[in-house]
Amino acid sequence: MTSHSSLNADLHCHSVVSDGTLTPEQLAERAHGNGVQLWALTDHDELGGQERARIAASLLGMDYVSGVEISVSWMGQTIHIVGLGIDATHAGILEGLRRTRDGRGNRAKMMAEQLSKVGIAGAYEGALHFAGNHDLISRTHFARFLVEQGVCRDTDHVFKNYLVEDKPGYVPHLWASLDDAVAWIKGAGGAAVIAHPGRYKLSAMQMDELYKHFKDIGGIAIEVITGSHSPNQYQTYGKIAQHYGFLASRGSDFHDPEESYIDLGTLPHLPEHLTPVWTLFH
Ligand code: AMP
Ligand code: MN
Ligand code: MN
Ligand code: MN
Repeated sequence: MTSHSSLNADLHCHSVVSDGTLTPEQLAERAHGNGVQLWALTDHDELGGQERARIAASLLGMDYVSGVEISVSWMGQTIHIVGLGIDATHAGILEGLRRTRDGRGNRAKMMAEQLSKVGIAGAYEGALHFAGNHDLISRTHFARFLVEQGVCRDTDHVFKNYLVEDKPGYVPHLWASLDDAVAWIKGAGGAAVIAHPGRYKLSAMQMDELYKHFKDIGGIAIEVITGSHSPNQYQTYGKIAQHYGFLASRGSDFHDPEESYIDLGTLPHLPEHLTPVWTLFH
């Protein structure tokens, strides 16, 4: 395996095991078809798809790195930490993720209750219908239900008008701690990566504190080229990676052929002056 920055690595996407709509096998086919050379499936708070993804990739002759995207609460915000190259059978991370998933069912019921107050009935059952894994009911499943019901024209619209702070259907939730998430990833032999740093509603000072603390506890990389960043942000977070001495990651954050506007393996390459996180995996 090569480790250069122009490798077509896609180290962030979701399957039906969390809030994607394709199976691990369908994702492997799609990634391979789009020229991906190194792939990771990173379902939210779940390792249930790892074995299938690894086998599917191997049958296609595509290199695979195990992955996960952990939901974390930090300074009152939700942030996402990707773990790459973990042992997906390690007891510590499996137990930690199980606990992280546990609150989702109750949260979903409270979300549905709120939605019913603005005249949207049956949202819990409706969202559950879209969830391939009933342990992992997410806002994405509610968003698909609201689109199906004609409440919004697409999921983008949902996340502007529902399910987010100060809008109907938003229920604050306490996820894993940053320290625990990084400890689980490291305990399972993996590399911890801050997912889509450009997406958080944190001040520059809070982001600085996040990078420093993350580094202190053994975090090693940030996503620079991601489907959640604009081209301007590729530059910004490339500089951040250099400034703090982080390795750089690349991943589409693909969820669904219709909803995701960036397909697997189609993002720009990592800039050459950055050190790719995949130098760790060969
Ligand atoms: P949850 O973990 O249940 O809070 O759901 C979070 C998921 O909702 C993310 O992983 C995305 O897939 C989706 N999501 C959150 N915000 C947005 C947004 N602004 N646009 C589209 N999808 C979003
Ligand atoms: Mn998602
Ligand atoms: Mn995310
Ligand atoms: Mn994601």
